[in-house]
Amino acid sequence: MSEIKKVDQIECNGKRVICRVDFNCPCENGQVTDDTRIQRALPTINLLLERGAKLILMSHRGRPSGTGFEEEFSLKPVAARLTEVVNADVVLAKDIIGDDAKAKAQALQPGQILLLENLRFDKREKKNDPEFARELAGLADIYVNDAFGTAHRAHASTAGVPAYLPGYAGFLLSNEVETLGGMLNNPKRPFTAILGGSKVSDKIKVINSLIDKCDNLIICGGMAYTFLASQGIETGKSIMEADWIDKAKEMLAKAEAKGVKILLPVDIVVADDFAADANHYTVDVHEIPADMEGLDCGEKTSALFAETIKNSKTIFWNGPAGVFEFDAFAVGTRAIAEAVADAEGESIIGGGDSVAAINKYGLADKMTFVSTGGGASMELVQGEALPGVEALRQ
Ligand code: ADP
Ligand code: MG
Repeated sequence: MSEIKKVDQIECNGKRVICRVDFNCPCENGQVTDDTRIQRALPTINLLLERGAKLILMSHRGRPSGTGFEEEFSLKPVAARLTEVVNADVVLAKDIIGDDAKAKAQALQPGQILLLENLRFDKREKKNDPEFARELAGLADIYVNDAFGTAHRAHASTAGVPAYLPGYAGFLLSNEVETLGGMLNNPKRPFTAILGGSKVSDKIKVINSLIDKCDNLIICGGMAYTFLASQGIETGKSIMEADWIDKAKEMLAKAEAKGVKILLPVDIVVADDFAADANHYTVDVHEIPADMEGLDCGEKTSALFAETIKNSKTIFWNGPAGVFEFDAFAVGTRAIAEAVADAEGESIIGGGDSVAAINKYGLADKMTFVSTGGGASMELVQGEALPGVEALRQ
């Protein structure tokens, strides 16, 4: 299989470079409210500018209908924010591959940035339409993909354009692929995987793939109740997927056969309602009342998990241990986050909500690697090839 060229190998002086970024930033009243995604693309953007590129950036934002320009989903706020954080002129095109974009791409000078309008204003983007991809490619001489968050989607700007142009992986994309692919495939041991979140059905492939790789598997959050139920434990009104009990049993049997130690909650914080102010108390896992639902793991569980986490050389964590959006049920998630942050081993965090949790607790800096992609990182962990990455192998 051919190697992927990294952007630090690029020679682009005076050339037009079209770079797919993920600028799907939250915006309010015409302003970007969180510019993390812009910041993460800066190493690649700055390198391309330093090397004299005429830089064309393209991204999606939100979920427009795909029938043309919609003010609500315009990249205008992003262009405004980008101007403030890069040392370059930023021009926003009125369209994607229309007359305005073509004229502005023609007029572009080295060190300037042209941002195309929201790719998803054209429904051909998500369909990976070859004609749309060819038109995008026609704006430039070289292609760079730095949009890890959409690398698992075979869209025109990720999988289509590199068929027409020499392609390179940006720093963000290559870091993600190397870390998630590399560290997880060749982990220092013991390797502990912590999986939480709401549903087994969402994560079954991740569980399956991690059992093949890890030494300890901690199962927490909502998905734990299906595993507990598979062991004959009454889970009351907790989130539990009856259809997945057999699969959970199968996973536990597979883990046992492979010598993987499984850790499940031993105590549970139960609540009388799914609400921030619900009445709640802690019970032994075998004593969940029929009319209560488990919204967090208890202190004994946190201590048990922390002990294993502390003694691990590699830790992968995806999925909160409880309904951490409600402070009263964030105790378990916070305890895990702190244990992972304190552990000496290498820590990799993936998943939208898990990353939100560690950011909320100010612990992101203490982790070895915090993945920026939700779906894309899970697909890598599952050992799946990402269309946006594979398209660069030519
Ligand atoms: P990630 O985004 O990190 O992959 P998920 O999306 O799988 O994580 O799961 C996060 C969600 O799981 C959170 O919204 C959280 O409230 C929910 N959750 C965790 N524990 C429970 C529980 N015991 N009952 C219901 N929902 C839960
Ligand atoms: Mg999530």
